[in-house]
Amino acid sequence: MKNRFCLAIGTLCTLALLVPVSVPAAAADTQEANVQMGKNIQAAESARIMTVDPAAVDGSQTGENTGAADTDEQTNQNAGAADPASQKAGKKKKKKTIFIAAGHQERGISSRERLAPGSSATKAKLTSGTSGVRTGIPEYKTNLAIAKATRKALRKAGYKVIMLRTTNQCPLSNQQRTKKANKSGANLHICIHCNAGGTGARGPLVIVPASSRYVGSKVYNKSCRLGSSLISAVAKSTGKRANATIRSNYYTTINWAKIPTVILECGFMSNPSEDRQLNSASYQKKIADGIVKGVNKYFKNNKK
Ligand SMILES: [Zn+2]
Repeated sequence: MKNRFCLAIGTLCTLALLVPVSVPAAAADTQEANVQMGKNIQAAESARIMTVDPAAVDGSQTGENTGAADTDEQTNQNAGAADPASQKAGKKKKKKTIFIAAGHQERGISSRERLAPGSSATKAKLTSGTSGVRTGIPEYKTNLAIAKATRKALRKAGYKVIMLRTTNQCPLSNQQRTKKANKSGANLHICIHCNAGGTGARGPLVIVPASSRYVGSKVYNKSCRLGSSLISAVAKSTGKRANATIRSNYYTTINWAKIPTVILECGFMSNPSEDRQLNSASYQKKIADGIVKGVNKYFKNNKK
């Protein structure tokens, strides 16, 4: 199961790494309705979602996951309003809030949902992610560990943090996850993932919208700027070379965004040594520190 997933993702992900820059946004858009294309630029999960399962029938939802079970996530300490420090007679600048979404959870959700507002194309609600070729650790656990390290680093730097999930049970679809981020009051939405590709693939990668088509020009521009700030800072902090940024309108997570949103693939779990690094506290801290620097840079350059 795991191996099959890895292979499937690996092939597609390699494709994604080879072609991303050469695929124009418009081409990606026009192919959107063709869920079967499979030859496109998606990275890991998008590509896998697009792999056609003839047995899958849109609308055949089992209804097992309409969000109610996510209440444990509500325990995040910083829903925003109640920070005394930021309320001092309105003199002190309000803290910026970052919504950190650790990708996946303990199981995928194969029933489908709309890929984007106004689109009739559908995708699986949630994929199960990859797993470490060396460690065997599932991606959702690694993502959560990195997300928690990021929360710690962001708080230390003076940001408020809202976590999508703090446990490995979060049966929300990608669309529901993004809607939660939209409603959270956060300034930015950063989705933490790990990638799969060849054993030699390495380094961070970001995914941003390919155009303003679904998210509007404001969110599109800001997401691109955030992606650019993050990728350079995380590459620097981890000592890795950044992979080419993927610009895609095939990610449900991004398409429903109403606040600047990026997917950060922190590294490759298909690479034995990077897999080990991604699952070590010291490397997770490097990623987290890079994210903080990237966020700092974003706000420095985007005052409004
Ligand atoms: Zn993932």
